[in-house]
Amino acid sequence: MMQLNMYIDGQWTDSKEYKQRDILNPANGEIIAKASEGTVEEAKNAIAAARRTFDEGTWPDMAPAERSAFLYRIASEIEAHHNELTKLETLDNGKTHAEAGYDVSDVADCFRYYAGLIRQPDGQAYDGPDQIQTMVVHEPIGVCGLIVPWNFPLLMSVWKMAPALAAGNTIVLKPSEVTPVTAVKLFEIFEAAGLPKGAANLLLGSGAAVGNELAESHQVDKISFTGGTETGRTIMKAASGNLKKISLELGGKSPNIVFADTDLETAVDYALYGIFFGAGQVCSSGSRILVEECIHDQFVERFVERAKKINVGPGNDSQSEMGPLVIEDHMNKVLSYIALGKEEGARLLCGGYRIETDALRDGFFVEPTAFTDTTENMKIVQEEIFGPVAVFQTFSDEKDAIRLANNTDYGLAGSVFTRDGSKALRVIKKVRAGITWVNTYHTSFSESPWGGYKQSGIGRGLGTYGLEEFQEVKQINISQQVEPAGWFSE
Ligand code: NAD
Repeated sequence: MMQLNMYIDGQWTDSKEYKQRDILNPANGEIIAKASEGTVEEAKNAIAAARRTFDEGTWPDMAPAERSAFLYRIASEIEAHHNELTKLETLDNGKTHAEAGYDVSDVADCFRYYAGLIRQPDGQAYDGPDQIQTMVVHEPIGVCGLIVPWNFPLLMSVWKMAPALAAGNTIVLKPSEVTPVTAVKLFEIFEAAGLPKGAANLLLGSGAAVGNELAESHQVDKISFTGGTETGRTIMKAASGNLKKISLELGGKSPNIVFADTDLETAVDYALYGIFFGAGQVCSSGSRILVEECIHDQFVERFVERAKKINVGPGNDSQSEMGPLVIEDHMNKVLSYIALGKEEGARLLCGGYRIETDALRDGFFVEPTAFTDTTENMKIVQEEIFGPVAVFQTFSDEKDAIRLANNTDYGLAGSVFTRDGSKALRVIKKVRAGITWVNTYHTSFSESPWGGYKQSGIGRGLGTYGLEEFQEVKQINISQQVEPAGWFSE
């Protein structure tokens, strides 16, 4: 059984109250680890360590090239531990080995990307009036609290940690209390890479205790949060006390728009991938499939035929194509949305139940599920279910498709499938979302900014934008003619 501890000021630290949380394998409900349950006191200690390290300049004053070298070293260590990290992510989150393997590769790539980016010349210089030479430079913000969810435990942490550290900030990471395993492993890698103590700190425990302390503390200069929209709202309020900078990456209910002129097999294939990848526990899932009326029956028939063939099973079985949901409570939430869909009068096309075969009964498995005959105000159409539940809608023409696509509070992602290039561009430009695709789904790169419109978030992760989220901008004006201003008479 693994024992998971916090990492504060370069020391592995147990919970002061000696409380432990059981961490379960979602594929069979067995306890795989005991995690120290952090308290507000430990949160304060972690914040103080990050504050000291920042204020004393140990990490921020290092040349970017030096910090970059640490990040490259970390990336190499991640690659060296690829198999171990993959297995642990599957064990903890439930995702398949194939999915977890991609995450680990992306994590190493993200460290390399920011290690390279921080070495680029940066800023501006120009001649101001009156012999003033002006420079614009970027500086780190200070102590950054990074709060992440359970669906991509490693990847979501690293999308924040890599740019935050590259920019010279000190950090306190709080992974989700249900999936802390790989964060602990990553901090062992940080320790082995010789990261200065206090530069990166790890807190384990609940959102209500340690997460809230990060959001509220006046010693924290920035909160970067990924998680549910309601939690984002709470964090924004808590962070307002000292007006700390915030970035929020929140939920979605993203439209996947399929026009009749598309290649049907390709569109069906991506529609399945869009919603059932990660068992639908992906913020950018194509959870609303908008199909042009005239191909609805044909499309849905093929979709259901293929959905029924998806091999659901434990993530560590190489035959499994879709894993379980992360915890029992979340599975029950998804099942209650399925019940609600039936009550609201939508037609269940396939799935709809927990899988209770002998082999899977103890895990949190739900069948790939789809509804059609929906209306746009149904809760299953408007709200994020965050599970393997596809909701079909139909549209009559381009204008109708755009209106329906935008008719939710969210604006995270969206896609269009059509053979008509001009139409694809016209429609995707009208979709009010930050992450969009044409004739594909789910691709994402370290270089491309990630984030949402509307209630899907504030700010962008990844790319150059992701670095700027962790930087202040300063103008420096230098006089080349040192003489009195002469504003007031002598
Ligand atoms: P969640 O909001 O319940 O929790 C996320 C994190 O916030 C956890 O670490 C939790 O402990 C912490 N937290 C909870 N309450 C808090 C509080 N009051 N103060 C401070 N921290 C608090 O989300 P979840 O269930 O872990 O993850 C699922 C959600 O995350 C979905 O809505 C999904 O769409 C979203 N998500 C968004 C993105 C994106 O990039 N936009 C990516 C992944 C997941």
